[in-house]
Amino acid sequence: MRETLKKKEGLAMSEGRYQGIPRASIPWFPTIDYKKCVSCGKCVEYCKLGAYSYEETDGEKRPVVVKPNNCVVLCKGCQDICPSKAITHPLRKETINLIRKLLKQKKQ
Ligand code: SF4
Ligand code: SF4
Repeated sequence: MRETLKKKEGLAMSEGRYQGIPRASIPWFPTIDYKKCVSCGKCVEYCKLGAYSYEETDGEKRPVVVKPNNCVVLCKGCQDICPSKAITHPLRKETINLIRKLLKQKKQ
């Protein structure tokens, strides 16, 4: 199953669905800890799926997750490149279990 998910990662998302499951029902997206974030912008530049943008407050720019469902399910790219370890994602195992459950429900 894990292999199947891995192979399909990034390929199976279309029209808001992931392997036929509504993408919105899979809570996989980055969360930024602003206490750790140094606003370097690397995550915004790194993600080519447009999950991030900037928001500006009092002349200060900081990253914000504007399209969480654009995040590729099981990708952790931005988390890996964040120099401040300010980005987290849900647990991979829990997400895979949830996807399994949703796929099973879809077949019934
Ligand atoms: S890469 Fe990390 S530290 Fe840099 S803006 Fe993004 S969350 Fe903040
Ligand atoms: S985990 Fe991947 S797809 Fe998701 S926001 Fe980060 S770089 Fe983009």
